[in-house]
Amino acid sequence: MSDDFFPVPATWAKDALLDREGRAADYRRSIEDSHDYWLERAKRLAWITQPTRTDESSFAEADFNVKWFADGQINVSVNCIDRHLAERGDQVAIIWEPDSPEEEPRRYTYKQVHEEVCRFANVLKGAGAKKGDRITIYLPMIPEAAFALLACARIGAVHSVVFGGFSPEALAGRIIDCDSTLVITADEGRRAGKAVPLKANVDAALHDCASVKRVIVVKATGGAVAMKDGRDLWLHEEAGRVSADCPPETMNAEDPLFILYTSGSTGKPKGVLHTSGGYLLWAALTHELCFDYRPGDIWWCAADIGWVTGHSYIVYGPLANGATTLMYEGVPNWPTPSRIWEVVDRHQVHAVFTAPTALRALMREGDEFVTRTSRQSLRLLGTVGEPINPEAWRWYHHIVGEDRCPIIDTWWQTETGAAMIAPMPGATDLKPGSATLPMPGVIPQIVDGEGQVLHSAAEGNLVIAQSWPGQMRTVWGDHDRFFQTYFTTFPGKYTTGDGARRDADGYYWITGRVDDVINVSGHRMGTAEVESALVLHESVAEAAVVGFPHDIKGQGIYAYVTLNAHEEPSEDLRRTLSAWVRTEIGPIATPDAIQFAPALPKTRSGKIMRRILRKIAEGETSAQALGDTSTLADPSVVDNLVANRVGG
Ligand code: ATP
Ligand code: MG
Repeated sequence: MSDDFFPVPATWAKDALLDREGRAADYRRSIEDSHDYWLERAKRLAWITQPTRTDESSFAEADFNVKWFADGQINVSVNCIDRHLAERGDQVAIIWEPDSPEEEPRRYTYKQVHEEVCRFANVLKGAGAKKGDRITIYLPMIPEAAFALLACARIGAVHSVVFGGFSPEALAGRIIDCDSTLVITADEGRRAGKAVPLKANVDAALHDCASVKRVIVVKATGGAVAMKDGRDLWLHEEAGRVSADCPPETMNAEDPLFILYTSGSTGKPKGVLHTSGGYLLWAALTHELCFDYRPGDIWWCAADIGWVTGHSYIVYGPLANGATTLMYEGVPNWPTPSRIWEVVDRHQVHAVFTAPTALRALMREGDEFVTRTSRQSLRLLGTVGEPINPEAWRWYHHIVGEDRCPIIDTWWQTETGAAMIAPMPGATDLKPGSATLPMPGVIPQIVDGEGQVLHSAAEGNLVIAQSWPGQMRTVWGDHDRFFQTYFTTFPGKYTTGDGARRDADGYYWITGRVDDVINVSGHRMGTAEVESALVLHESVAEAAVVGFPHDIKGQGIYAYVTLNAHEEPSEDLRRTLSAWVRTEIGPIATPDAIQFAPALPKTRSGKIMRRILRKIAEGETSAQALGDTSTLADPSVVDNLVANRVGG
């Protein structure tokens, strides 16, 4: 993998929140003087009762629990709204950019957000919702989605956001799993100019969900929907009838804030539970440190609110920090692949945070779509979701950021609440493809298959040795699954399920999912390395690599390759790519099979589902063998791959 080095730009080093020494000292303190460190860090939040306790977690079976700030009392919506009113009530809190560039954006000041959220909260109360109830939110990327989260937080209801692209079945499964009593949806959503029938999907889902008593419907497009008497209410009608004041519920730091299901890349999605105090602190602190957030910055996290990235970096982190956060309704490549950069110019955005999958898709279309925009407002660029191939990293840095914007590659999970390993722009020299160093309080370790801790430069399983404030507290309704999934493989540690390499500078490189590690003739290889070598080739847009049984080598390497726009598959190219990987990494990594794939199977959150690719490579293609495919974005992709499998 690339060992190129990009030092902190002088402009950033000058007045960064933390410089190199500052980051190192802060980290040391967070470990050596943890209790006082976290009491002090906790002061960035507005507590009803300031906590005097910090970490009381234990990963040991006997007294297993995750607990932070347990004597603190807080309301999350107050932290995200009310406490900013005196100082920046008239500052824009949310900029909303619609799906179509032909439409006008909308802006909401903190004062306006306060009123919207209070009314929404009163509507929820009027519909019978109370503290501790679960509320499922199935909305498009409209401002009401942010209001809905905050309204739940205000009254102490536990929200469970389900991505608006999920089917009625997937929605029903998530409603049933957490026993929601209320659903918030919209008439329709819009993506890339097409309407998504959200309300109709809810109607279909609710055939199977007896727990739901009320459905609150946002009028988003004005499309025709059926309203069920006694169950369905229009938000705008109800909001006009209730007070614009809603006193916030007093919550314990450990009271649940939300449930969110993981992406389902490696199996059945898990209902991750996060609580109020620790989660909010983690989201706000990492938003400030990783992105060197300063008052007045225009911040854009281009994720969907249906994923943890949207929760932590569109809503909770930025609003807790009093930021201006941009919400975008549409997709990155519609109407053209320039759309993201045009939005940056339109709103003079300082920082964009997106996923490698989006970057690879845009790269594929050529540089012209980027270079025809200005992007002068950009100061830094972020990425999350999958290992970023060094090739994509360099493109993001050079073409998008014109070599002036640090790339903040944040490694984390739904389970970790917010960023765990990431650069800070003024403190961390960058290496393309490395998420670099741990955040305060995070103790990553690399262990071998037996759980032996490996020191200095090493490669193996990435685990976290002790708790951090934003750690998930349980799998909803299945505390045993929580313990079994994350704390039994390597007892006493949190198992991430990801593989990592630590280099001589202590930098971490995520090598892919542990389940995806390939063992060729006794050599263990992460998928990320081989994929990155393939993506480096000028004809390749994206690649996914898996192992399959091989008589001689134990496992062979099977590569699925998506070509750049205007490239044609050929036997010649197949041979070229094989030789290319051989030169880039070594003979051991030479693919045994290369299948050209028009598209790769991805989760709705844009992650490659290698477990399905592994099954296809193994020749196991029954629905049962393919496992849970409910979070697949486009099931037809799988049929194409099965039909064109290499090696018969
Ligand atoms: P499931 O747990 O249901 O299989 P998932 O792991 O894809 O789904 P998420 O919580 O959305 O669900 O994703 C977290 C995973 O994404 C991480 O474990 C890691 O594999 C990958 N990931 C996220 N950010 C990065 C990054 N910056 N570099 C490398 N990998 C990343
Ligand atoms: Mg996971």
